Amino acid sequence: MDTTSEPTWQEQLRDAFREPSELAAFLNTPLDRLPPLPRSGSFPLLVPRGFANRMRKGDPLDPLLRQVWPDASESVTAPEELSDPVGDLSSRKAPGLLQKYASRALVVTTGACAVHCRYCFRQNFPYDESATSPSRWAAQLDAFRADASLREAVLSGGDPLVLPDSAFAARVADLESVAHLSTLRIHSRLPVVLPSRITSDLCRILSTSRLRVVVVAHANHPSEIDSSVASAIARLRGAGAVVLNQSVLLAGVNDSADALENLSLALWDAGAMPYYLHALDRVEGSSRFRVADADGIRLIEELRRRLPGYLVPRFVREIEGEPSKTPVG
Ligand SMILES: *Cc1c(COP(=O)(O)O)cnc(C)c1O
Ligand code: SF4
Repeated sequence: MDTTSEPTWQEQLRDAFREPSELAAFLNTPLDRLPPLPRSGSFPLLVPRGFANRMRKGDPLDPLLRQVWPDASESVTAPEELSDPVGDLSSRKAPGLLQKYASRALVVTTGACAVHCRYCFRQNFPYDESATSPSRWAAQLDAFRADASLREAVLSGGDPLVLPDSAFAARVADLESVAHLSTLRIHSRLPVVLPSRITSDLCRILSTSRLRVVVVAHANHPSEIDSSVASAIARLRGAGAVVLNQSVLLAGVNDSADALENLSLALWDAGAMPYYLHALDRVEGSSRFRVADADGIRLIEELRRRLPGYLVPRFVREIEGEPSKTPVG
């Protein structure tokens, strides 16, 4: 075996931090300077080492660390918080297939992710039910085939790029066989948290597809975007994909005009366009990340003064039953 070669993305994922004490030691930050951990957790810590490497050593307030550090406050549900805050359970077209909006439907491709984001609204989703079983996929594909109003398939999750290339390629090929589909969208945090996932084999699957490909990456803070991420985005663009980014507005992470401005500029330099800035969904136990709408609106106004219009993300919220994401303000 060639021990000098870079570990594969699968090896890097296996090697990710899963123990808070190990991450704290890696960051030279004593556990007692970090927020107290929850007593028990159904959503354990998960952080690839490459992502942890972009955190500032010795800084318990690092904005990347804050996104992934389990916090005792997660066990407290504020009155307005819900386990299914965006109505996912009521918009199923088939098991694991959600349609809320015209012309596009979203596949819950897998429950697995390469990082566990503490603010994530999917952490309470009943994934075991929407596992990656062949019969589940066959039913989802039938639903795409049966509805000629659908132009776009959105692969989401969890994270669809956690699938191995063979399984991913099979899904793309199946979607290509549905004549009325023209666009394949991939919502993934892997270009940012595990950029080595963007392999030449994956790029070949995308570049040889008849479908137009949109990749919506997910970075919340400019420090997430280093040269490895820029290279991954460049490879995706080289494969013909349009690369967008969505973020969530998070207290203590990116709730300042400087952070949001620098995020947009870093995305632009890396070749990705800011798309959405999401107001946080009312996820159980996420109150430490909440930003008041009025503050978010003020931040967006400040961004408009600082940046060209195409670098200002659309500030939106998901409201159950609405025909699109809803602009805030
Ligand atoms: C957010 C979302 C989409 C994508 O919406 P766009 O405005 O097209 O980005 C599609 N389907 C579902 C179920 C969604 O939640
Ligand atoms: S679905 Fe996305 S935001 Fe949620 S935990 Fe997984 S990677 Fe993070």
